Amino acid sequence: MGKLDGFDYIKPNDIEEACKIMAQEGKSIKPFAGGTDLMVQMRAGKIKPELLMDIKGLRLDKIQYLPENKISIGALSTINSIIESELIRSKFPFIIEAAEEMASVQIRNRGTVGGNLCNAAPSADLAQPILATGGIAKVVGENGSREMDLDDFFIGPGKTALSSKEILTEIILDELPEYSGTAYIRLKRNAMDLALAGVATVVTIDEEGKCISAKIVLGAVGPTPIIAEEAANSLIETKLDKLAIEKAASIAEDLSKPIDDVRTNAWYRKKAVKNLTIKALELANRRAAEQLNANTKGGQTI
Ligand SMILES: Cc1cc2nc3c(=O)[nH]c(=O)nc-3n(C[C@H](O)[C@H](O)[C@H](O)COP(=O)(O)OP(=O)(O)OC[C@H]3O[C@@H](n4cnc5c(N)ncnc54)[C@H](O)[C@@H]3O)c2cc1C
Repeated sequence: MGKLDGFDYIKPNDIEEACKIMAQEGKSIKPFAGGTDLMVQMRAGKIKPELLMDIKGLRLDKIQYLPENKISIGALSTINSIIESELIRSKFPFIIEAAEEMASVQIRNRGTVGGNLCNAAPSADLAQPILATGGIAKVVGENGSREMDLDDFFIGPGKTALSSKEILTEIILDELPEYSGTAYIRLKRNAMDLALAGVATVVTIDEEGKCISAKIVLGAVGPTPIIAEEAANSLIETKLDKLAIEKAASIAEDLSKPIDDVRTNAWYRKKAVKNLTIKALELANRRAAEQLNANTKGGQTI
């Protein structure tokens, strides 16, 4: 393990101050949120920032309901604050499922949503349900603020569409339509391990139980989370029966681009993607059907 030295530290009190620092500084800057990824990488000598900009003073930790059926999650919301949020639990239960899979209580108390997304590990657990939900990322930096579609956020392992002088401030997710079910399932070797493969799904059904929209996002089986559009589209207009689900899972397997690494090999990951996709779709469909059933009495919609 390397020594943690050779860098400066600064802690702005608000966004304006952070933007000024990013605009003026000639040094290589790294935003520092919970530090649970950053410190490990710095100690291993993988990154050597000249300036650590501690962003914990920026008050970006709100989780709130917005007009037009949108939900905002501040980038500095900790993983545990996600787990404790009734709003997230009721609107996006699969984000809770992903958060509960992550690390330990101690890491979840420090680690943030923004850090998990901006670190851009292909195995990042929150990336998959967040991408499957859809919405936008809000960013500020040396050139002011901008918004980007979450679909465009990840560009490679450890790389996002943010410049080195921008910070993520919040993500704004679209509330799911009625009769939507979600699920996140991942495979790991032991309790504290990163995912070998993970799948997040959303399915929305109509009153006959037919699928009217679907999203499938695969994690840890490509350089970025993979939005398996072709697999999801194959489910539209089906009753999400065994055949339809297995077909979508086979397409998802074909779309995955896993590698061999210390945790497992590419062949195993491909098989895992297929099985996880089947399980996640079955679970999401069951949850959507439960909502539909809860809204009907004696076969009539109430
Ligand atoms: C023991 C252990 C177990 C773990 N288990 C898991 C796991 O199961 N699943 C999982 O997904 N992850 C896991 N992690 C990784 C890590 O805890 C999470 O990714 C966490 O959410 C990172 O958040 P952070 O606030 O600590 O990020 P930081 O370490 O502070 O930052 C990570 C990266 O993102 C950048 N960054 C942070 N916030 C912003 C922002 N708002 N704008 C722009 N850039 C930003 C930083 O500059 C840095 O490059 C684990 C880590 C450890 C040490």
